[in-house]
Amino acid sequence: MATVAHNTVFDPGRHFIAGDWRAADGASFESHNPARTRELLGVYPAGTSADVDAAVAAAREAFPNWRRTSRVKRGDLFDNLAQLIKRDVDELATVLARESGKLLDEARAEVIEGLHMVQYVFGTARQPYGQVIASEIEAKDLYERRKPRGVVAVITPWNFPFAVPLWMLAPSLLEGNTTVFKPSEETPEIGQRLVALFAEAGFPAGTINLIHGDGLGVGEPLARHPDVDVVAFTGSYEVGAKIRRWAAESDHKTCACEMGSKSAVIVCEDADLELAASAALLSAFKTAGQRCVSAGRVLVHRSKLGAFVERFVPRAEQVRFGDPFDRQSFAGPLINAAAVEKVTAYNELARREGAQVLLEGKRLGDTLADGYFMSPCVYLQEHRPGVRTIREEVFGPHLAIIPFDNDDEAIAIYNDTPYGLSMAVITEDYRRWRLYRDECDYGMGYVNLPCIGAEVHLPFGGVKRSGNGQPSAAALVDAVTHRTAFTVNHDRTIRMAQGMKAE
Ligand code: NAD
Repeated sequence: MATVAHNTVFDPGRHFIAGDWRAADGASFESHNPARTRELLGVYPAGTSADVDAAVAAAREAFPNWRRTSRVKRGDLFDNLAQLIKRDVDELATVLARESGKLLDEARAEVIEGLHMVQYVFGTARQPYGQVIASEIEAKDLYERRKPRGVVAVITPWNFPFAVPLWMLAPSLLEGNTTVFKPSEETPEIGQRLVALFAEAGFPAGTINLIHGDGLGVGEPLARHPDVDVVAFTGSYEVGAKIRRWAAESDHKTCACEMGSKSAVIVCEDADLELAASAALLSAFKTAGQRCVSAGRVLVHRSKLGAFVERFVPRAEQVRFGDPFDRQSFAGPLINAAAVEKVTAYNELARREGAQVLLEGKRLGDTLADGYFMSPCVYLQEHRPGVRTIREEVFGPHLAIIPFDNDDEAIAIYNDTPYGLSMAVITEDYRRWRLYRDECDYGMGYVNLPCIGAEVHLPFGGVKRSGNGQPSAAALVDAVTHRTAFTVNHDRTIRMAQGMKAE
């Protein structure tokens, strides 16, 4: 259970640069509780490009010593961090729920997910970080060794403000990189608490730096900074696309971008419809549809459409979008007023695009203390060219039910969006799920499950507009290290490969 009061204002926020906490010396910004929109949560310094310069310089200065530190000793600090997260789970979950509007139990699950990432990274510290390979010359040994790339900028979204930063910070630091972290301006407190735990765990000054602020003031100067080697970004496609371009313009910078989606649950002809309805409900409306992997679409075999709708719609109607600390709630609010406007606009667009509306999505007003709550919008829509609401990410409780006539058509409909992040197929037929597994565009696939619910020791990343092929979590190691080849000659003369003469 939560151990902190729900109504206190957090202490004034600070940047963390070279091991020092720095208060605002200029503009600041406020953070509010999305479930109670008039409630102030805290005030944070609005970083500038000068702050970014200082943080990147601190990370650069710390890099040589950190890289030289034994990998096992770097790993031991993650063991310390894991103990601290365990100590503070309840408090962290409460902060996260107040800031993001996630239900307390979901917030707790996110803290545990972050803990799992830290434990995973601790475990990998004693694992090999390269390999020995035979040479065609007997006297030579060939090695492949992963080396850290340098300074990693970590820019993260509000909807997973504890786990996603850890997916990126933890592998980066274990591999010997140093980091500059910019949390979302919607969830600055949980980002700051995380960095405070890194400091308490004993990570040396400069290895992890934190700058608060928005995308233009901090995110952009950080992503474009010439002394940043890798940008690890999670957020919207619009921002990720810019980060990819900036990295491409640089001579040395690489990036790992995890972006939006239009994920889907596919309910086949032979599906267990009870399971299908539960999977669809969790996929579409948990976290009020604000997971990157939230389903914006349920594709249903036409022969099962009526039976599915009969099971699904009454449940969706009863789903309670309420206070994150109320155990009866299924999901909380949207994050801010802009999100309410965006979802409302897509709900209206669905009608204009000819949807048959089954549940009207509405702003839930006064009774919920003016939080950004919305009820789910559910509609039937035929798949056809040009329908935006079945192709674009809405990021809210907005769900299209799309009929299909056979598996090939379902696969074509599933793939007909610019995204490819998560896909769940509901079927009892092992031949059928194999077809979907192989033909659909996604990074995370599920069978007889919702399309949400990843675990950290798997890669997490999509294709097309959902990701640039550098998955996060366990797989981030590939983005934050360079695979070097190293050859040692044990003879007294030089012999070249491929028969080349050395005389
Ligand atoms: P967002 O893109 O608005 O913001 C993400 C981060 O980028 C924030 O820290 C923000 O301040 C920063 N930013 C904004 N403009 C920037 C700029 N010009 N340059 C550099 N940084 C900038 O996203 P959001 O609203 O916080 O999160 C929701 C989005 O994130 C959704 O599209 C969701 O699908 C996606 N998401 C994806 C994953 C994934 O793993 N694929 C996970 C979580 C969320």
